[in-house]
Amino acid sequence: MQMTSEGRRLLLQGAQELGLDLEPHIPRFARFFELLTHANQTLNLTAIRDEEGIVLKHFVDSLTCLIYPGFVDGLSVIDVGTGAGFPGLPLAIVRPKIHFDLLDATQKKVGFVARVIQDLELSNAQALWGRAETLAQQNVKRETYDAALTRAVASLATVAELTLPLVRVGGFVLAQKGAGVEAEVEQAQGALRRLGGVIEHILHLKLPHIGDERALIILRKTAPTPPQYPRKPGVPAKNPLS
Ligand code: SAH
Repeated sequence: MQMTSEGRRLLLQGAQELGLDLEPHIPRFARFFELLTHANQTLNLTAIRDEEGIVLKHFVDSLTCLIYPGFVDGLSVIDVGTGAGFPGLPLAIVRPKIHFDLLDATQKKVGFVARVIQDLELSNAQALWGRAETLAQQNVKRETYDAALTRAVASLATVAELTLPLVRVGGFVLAQKGAGVEAEVEQAQGALRRLGGVIEHILHLKLPHIGDERALIILRKTAPTPPQYPRKPGVPAKNPLS
């Protein structure tokens, strides 16, 4: 499916509400849209299939991360559980001087993300197949990233265990959430203490055009993560730290 002129207008307008000029990036977003809708016919990558949904709930929603002012040029960032590339791919398109590693445990999703990176010639992004628990226990990756991102992967305590071990002391984690995060923030306090993180900000926003409520939770890594974290694959989700 090709992105229509109405889709382009929605994308430009939604991005503009976030303070971003997407005009120079429209060709890449249009091509990404085409690759995603085509692949989704056979691969079942995302349940959101209509044009307005893809533009607003995937593209614009991913770009809302940029209202947090921490995304400066030169950073090395990992998107944990990127799925079909969200939020990592839209961010890689508009921030060519930030490097993005896009990690997912599902091979077909990583294969799709790798094809998009190649097709769009995104030299600042790399697709990685694997689990965060495994990657974070490898010395070459542990505590090396300036920041980690995650959208729709797990509750905050689990997300903290999957991301904080990958981030250097002084770096940050941005978790994209829907409204009503108070309970999971409360439940994550013990996990954050053990893992070496604190809540720095919770930014509340409304998605442009449709007004859906969102929260961006920013964690700051303040101390090294003890070597026993993350625990074995699957454990952080099954038995969140308390
Ligand atoms: N972030 C995307 C996908 C969300 S679905 C979006 O918002 O659209 C959650 C994704 O996280 C799935 O693709 C799943 O394979 C991945 N995932 C879950 N646990 C993971 C882990 N421990 N390590 C790596 N990927 C994981």
